[in-house]
Amino acid sequence: MYEIEHWINGKRVKGTSGRFADIYNPATGEVQGKAPLATPAELDDAVAKAAQAQKLWAKVNPQRRARVMMKFGALINEHMDRLAQVLSREHGKTLPDARGDIQRGLEVVEVCMGAPAMLKGEFTDSGGPGIDLYSMRQPLGVVAGITPFNFPAMIPMWKMSPAIAAGNAMVLKPSERTPSTALLLAELLQEAGLPDGVLQVVHGDKEAVDAILDNETIQAVGFVGSTPIAQYIYGRACSNGKRAQCFGGAKNHMIIMPDADMEKAADALVGAGFGAAGERCMAISVAVPVGAETADRLVELMVPRIEKLKVGPYTAGEDMDFGPLVTPMAMERVKGLIASGIDQGATAVTDGRDFSLQGYENGFFVGPTLFDNVTPEMDIYREEIFGPVLSQVRTDNYEEALKLVMDNQYGNGTAIYTADGEIARDFASRVNVGMVGINFPIPVPLSYYTFGGWKKSGFGDLNQYGPDAFRFYTRTKTVTERWFQHIEHGTETAFKPMG
Ligand code: NAD
Repeated sequence: MYEIEHWINGKRVKGTSGRFADIYNPATGEVQGKAPLATPAELDDAVAKAAQAQKLWAKVNPQRRARVMMKFGALINEHMDRLAQVLSREHGKTLPDARGDIQRGLEVVEVCMGAPAMLKGEFTDSGGPGIDLYSMRQPLGVVAGITPFNFPAMIPMWKMSPAIAAGNAMVLKPSERTPSTALLLAELLQEAGLPDGVLQVVHGDKEAVDAILDNETIQAVGFVGSTPIAQYIYGRACSNGKRAQCFGGAKNHMIIMPDADMEKAADALVGAGFGAAGERCMAISVAVPVGAETADRLVELMVPRIEKLKVGPYTAGEDMDFGPLVTPMAMERVKGLIASGIDQGATAVTDGRDFSLQGYENGFFVGPTLFDNVTPEMDIYREEIFGPVLSQVRTDNYEEALKLVMDNQYGNGTAIYTADGEIARDFASRVNVGMVGINFPIPVPLSYYTFGGWKKSGFGDLNQYGPDAFRFYTRTKTVTERWFQHIEHGTETAFKPMG
């Protein structure tokens, strides 16, 4: 049993609250560690120290700050395997998935190596007689990141890298269910040359989060997690005068047109529906075939693929397809939703509730579950399940399929499989979802674009990473300056408008 610590001013510091969160080993079901849950006083202390450190960090020139990112990137590569082990041990995802999690974070670090270019201001020469205008981007000060359990490396890196490269200090509150990876990242950043205090890692639950939201020094809050919490944090942060961007849950639909490559569509649905045990905000959780023949064919193609999926602990080898869910509560919730699907009349083509693995009977495993004939009123359609459950909703035509996606409360990601460019273009143009895949099931944009959902998947007006992140973590100051002219300026005649 291990007890983790906070990371304050470049050192591991024991929590003082006496309250802890259990950290499970999801494959065995054991509680393997505890994470301290910070008090408001501990949080405020971390913020005060971050504010001191930030004053100096903001004066370090952008290129030097970018060099810290370069070294950080190199260290992440060097420590990839250790990071992946620590991540999988708490999260349960397979090692290739854990490395993917780290890699997608690393790609954002790489973009932050170009921070100086992102931070350049604007300049207008002679906006009036002797008058120049320029704008500059200045860091906000201390900002906070609050992150979910499902990407313990990637999302903390999405938050900390642009914030720090832009000259802020960050107080990061990672998920108390998968907290250790963030501590390793903090150590690597220190080794990369980040001054102590510029990144603080404080573990906690609602109490620490509320202290973040009410702390007057914190200027901005970047949140990723479930929709009810995203909405709550957005409201409270904004009413306290902070900038906030809060990304929430999802229900991602994939439309399959009759002309699609069915084998490829089936591969995509099985990979994007069940990969990472469905614990991805960009997982496909709803298949929307157009036409009965398309629907029947898809089921026929998916079943043998599902039967081949290897479900097991990350320690079982690199070829596992997915692992257990993160906690017993998550497993019970997913099993409860599967039961509700059956009760409410959906057809369970496969049912993963009784999945069991010798030697891991107490692990939080749920097998791949495919539902057909799902309707929009059912709980399995309305709720984000966040488990290895794929629901098929049959539709008669493209317009009906598109309407289903548009009417859904979530708008994180969506995809269409088709051979028809006109339909694909129409879909990309009309759909009210933030990230769209065309013959591409999980359209997470590359790190030099931006990531963000619409509707109840995102609150706030800027996306994560890419150029938007630099806008979010800086504020613009615009200077109008005049230098009085005492020098004779050449012989050019003054400009006179025509007429
Ligand atoms: P969660 O909302 O339970 O927790 C997220 C963070 O909020 C954690 O740090 C947690 O400690 C904190 N928190 C939890 N309850 C709180 C409360 N009552 N008050 C204040 N803070 C609280 O989410 P999770 O289960 O860790 O992550 C899964 C969710 O995150 C899913 O809904 C998933 O879709 C979503 N997600 C969204 C994105 C995105 O970019 N849109 C990315 C990844 C995950």
